[in-house]
Amino acid sequence: MNYTKEDVLREAYEKGVKFMRLQFTDIFGVLKNVSIPVEQLEKALDGEMMFDGSSIEGFVRIEESDMYLRPDPDTFVVFPWRPAEGGVARLICDVYNPDGTPFNGCPRNTLKKVLAEASEMGFKCYIGPELEFFLFHVDTEGRPTLITHDKAGYFDMTPVDLGESARRDMVLALEQMNFEIEASHHEVAPGQHEIDFKYADALEMADKMVTFRFVVRTIAQRHGLHATFMPKPIFGINGSGMHVNQSLFKNGKNVFYDPEGPMNLSSEAYHYIAGIMEHAKAFTAITNPTVNSYKRLVPGYEAPCYIAWSGRNRSPLIRIPAKRGSSTRIELRSPDPSCNPYLALAVQIKAGLDGVKRKLNPPEAVDLNIFAMDDRQRKEMGIDSLPGDLKEALTLLSNDEVIKDALGEHIYSRFVAAKTEEYDSFRIAVHKWEIDRYLEIY
Ligand code: GLU
Ligand code: MG
Ligand code: MG
Repeated sequence: MNYTKEDVLREAYEKGVKFMRLQFTDIFGVLKNVSIPVEQLEKALDGEMMFDGSSIEGFVRIEESDMYLRPDPDTFVVFPWRPAEGGVARLICDVYNPDGTPFNGCPRNTLKKVLAEASEMGFKCYIGPELEFFLFHVDTEGRPTLITHDKAGYFDMTPVDLGESARRDMVLALEQMNFEIEASHHEVAPGQHEIDFKYADALEMADKMVTFRFVVRTIAQRHGLHATFMPKPIFGINGSGMHVNQSLFKNGKNVFYDPEGPMNLSSEAYHYIAGIMEHAKAFTAITNPTVNSYKRLVPGYEAPCYIAWSGRNRSPLIRIPAKRGSSTRIELRSPDPSCNPYLALAVQIKAGLDGVKRKLNPPEAVDLNIFAMDDRQRKEMGIDSLPGDLKEALTLLSNDEVIKDALGEHIYSRFVAAKTEEYDSFRIAVHKWEIDRYLEIY
C-alpha cells in the first residue's frame, strides 16, 4: 500500500468509520491505543495527537511525558468485526518527542533504524513469520482455562476440533484486513494452531504480526475461546513458536540465491547465517523474552536449543527451507510469539547484516539429530547452546554491543530492568513443582 493522508481521510468517510484507534506498542510489544472520533482524524494525521507517555511502561519519566503520535497512512485498516455503521478503524503510529525527533523508546522507530542500515547496504529485508497459538476454553466467569476439547493433531481435519470454525473466522477477518493468508492448519499439540501469511517487507510485517495477535485473540473471544501466544502453556507437549523466514533482496533479486553456490546459496546467505549464529545467544532475550519462553527451548518438542544450522534437519536453530530462486530464505526457529515483533525483527536482521558486513562464515551444517548427541559430541562439533533461562539470556545480551546498538540505550536499559524484575519475581515465588517435589519428603 502507498497511502496518503488524503486517501485515509477519504476512505474513512466512505467506509463509515466513526472511531479511529491510534495504535503503537510499548517495549514489550503490548499494543496500546488511543481512540479518537473521526472528526479529529485530520489533526491526528498531521501528527498533532499528544498523549501522556508516562502511563506506558518503559516509555518516559514523568517530567518528560508529552509524546506525539505520527500515524503511518499505509497501516489504515477497518476492523471487519465492527458494525458497518459507526465503524472502527486503526492506524499504527510512530512515537515522536515534543521537539519533533523520533522517540528512542518506540520499537517501531528502532526497527526502522535497522532497516535504514540494511537499505544503506542496498538491501530490502523480507520476512515471513509462522505464528503458533493455542485455543483454550474459558470458564463460566470468562477466565481462560487450559482445557481444549480437541484431540486433533498436525494437519488434521476432524469435526472434533472446536477451534476449526474460530480459525476460519480468523482467516476471513485477516483477509479483510489486507493479509494474504497462505495456509492455516492445526499444529502438533491438541488445541494448537498456526496461520501463515505471505512474506512482506520487515516493517509491514512487524505491523502485521502485532495486528495478527490482536485479531486472533479478538475472534477467539467471539467464539467463547481464549487464544494464547504464551510460548509453553502446557508441560509435556509442544509449545508455540514463531519461526521467522527471512531473505535479503537487492535490485528486485533475492540475494540469498546463487545457482552456482553450495546448496544453491550465495556467500551473502552464508554470511547472514553466520551473523545470526554469532549473535543468537545475545538476542534470545529479545526473541524469547519471558520466563516461560525457556520452558519451550528444551529437547523433544521441535523447538531448538542448540546453535547450529541445517539444510535438512528441523532440530537446529536455523533451517534452510527447500525452496530456491526468489523464495530462497533462511528460517530462524527460536523466536516465540510472546516477543515484541519490532524488536525481535530488529535484532535478528541486525545480526544477519553484521555477518554480511564482516563476511563471517558459519560452521559446517549439522544434518544429524543434535538432541541425540551427548555434551561431549556437541562440544567436539563446536555446537553451543541457547541460554537456558531468562536470567542467562539477559547476561548474554549485556555482553553483545552489536545487539545493544540495535536496541539503543533507552530500550536496552528499560528492557533489562523490567525483565530482571520479572525474573526475580519468578525466582522468589514458590511453584507447584516445588510443593509436589519437596513437601512430603522434607
Ligand atoms: N511448535 C514447534 C516450536 O515450538 C514448531 C513446530 C513446527 O515445526 O512448526 O517451535
Ligand atoms: Mg509450525
Ligand atoms: Mg517452520
